[in-house]
Amino acid sequence: MKDMLKDYYRSLNVDEKVFEYCNSVEEKLKDRFAAIDAVSELNQLKVLKAMQDNRLSEAHFAGSSGYGYTDDGRDALERIYADVFHTEDALVRTQIVCGTHALCTAMFGNLRPGDEILAIAGKPYDTLDEIIGIRESRGSLAEYGVTYAQVDLLPNGDFDIDGIKNAINSRTRLVEIQRSKGYAVRKTLSVQQIGEAIKAVKSVNPDIICMVDNCYGEFVQDIEPSDVGADLVVGSLIKNPGGGLAPIGGYICGKKEYVENASYRLTTPGLGKEVGASLGNTKALTQGLFMAPTVTASALKGAIFAANVYEGLGFKAVPDSTEDRYDIIQAVELQTPERVVAFCEGIQAAAPVDSYVRPEPWDMPGYDSPVIMAAGAFVSGSSIELSADAPMRPPYAVYFQGGLTYPHAKYGIIMSLQKMVEKNLIVW
Ligand SMILES: *Cc1c(COP(=O)(O)O)cnc(C)c1O
Repeated sequence: MKDMLKDYYRSLNVDEKVFEYCNSVEEKLKDRFAAIDAVSELNQLKVLKAMQDNRLSEAHFAGSSGYGYTDDGRDALERIYADVFHTEDALVRTQIVCGTHALCTAMFGNLRPGDEILAIAGKPYDTLDEIIGIRESRGSLAEYGVTYAQVDLLPNGDFDIDGIKNAINSRTRLVEIQRSKGYAVRKTLSVQQIGEAIKAVKSVNPDIICMVDNCYGEFVQDIEPSDVGADLVVGSLIKNPGGGLAPIGGYICGKKEYVENASYRLTTPGLGKEVGASLGNTKALTQGLFMAPTVTASALKGAIFAANVYEGLGFKAVPDSTEDRYDIIQAVELQTPERVVAFCEGIQAAAPVDSYVRPEPWDMPGYDSPVIMAAGAFVSGSSIELSADAPMRPPYAVYFQGGLTYPHAKYGIIMSLQKMVEKNLIVW
């Protein structure tokens, strides 16, 4: 079996030494992988139960066109999401074009002139800058008279609970909490930590809406932020919860009133959730949710495998090889631009789509240094599929995430190392 595997890897241009090293790393990860499988088993049952309780049937996949009134499949999927996240209601739509749009819809729907947003995990994800008006922007919440305040995480990465309580004023209407570190240099927050922060906010004023940017965090743990008091959890369907099958979309789960407010922003006041044709996408979104727990587990295993492979060669991995995981993103500091390019070439070469393409750094709008990206995805831009990107600047960190299956994630990492070995960039 192992010999056959080695032959396959050889046929995919992987040297024996690279194969042997990576396999020896994997050998030591059995216990960690078992723990991940245990979480995914629980999440799989959670999803299945929600589907059974809502009597999901083939008829739900029929789809609708035009206005999309009485689209039973769309409505069933939203009830299933609400049950999975243990919330009163959910908005799960292909008309939500991405995670940023879902967050924007949740905020614009629930904020009124004079309200204040308080971000309590430091500055939110970059794409929210222009929604909030942190960076001046036409159409921002700031233009509508919504102000913004921020409390940074403490140097050790924990919430600044006293700072948060002090920052709340009579206008504070919505607290924004980003679960994943995204591409910032901080730790990802656990659901338990988020619960503590929400408790602190609610102790000052229980009416403040606590909204969690849940991107990259779904199904990584056995509970979600909505299980520890979040009023809204928001994310993208081309990340974890779409399971690689959703071609587009976003979700907003939470208290009925707040989800309804968001729906009036997504469509119109009055129409809300009643309209929005599913156009035949319901099956992909639903099956994607069904796959999401094991897909997320595969991505997590890939991230842990990568951390161990590269830490074993002397590189800094963030999170490190032994840390607990709260999202699927892995960073590795490769120290030179040549290694970053080689890493991305390897990820690309391992892709099912566009494997023959060679990624190159380019001056992407909005970034202050060239960026290189590797992705060969079935869904364009999907970051639950195996992908890597890196800004070309010290410490030459490459950010890596996804993998719909663990064998693919493993092969991608092996290829990243193979490319470096071929270019003599690794000292064994
Ligand atoms: C990806 C991401 C977003 C934005 O999602 P898009 O689908 O790219 O618009 C927001 N917050 C975090 C933490 C993310 O990782």
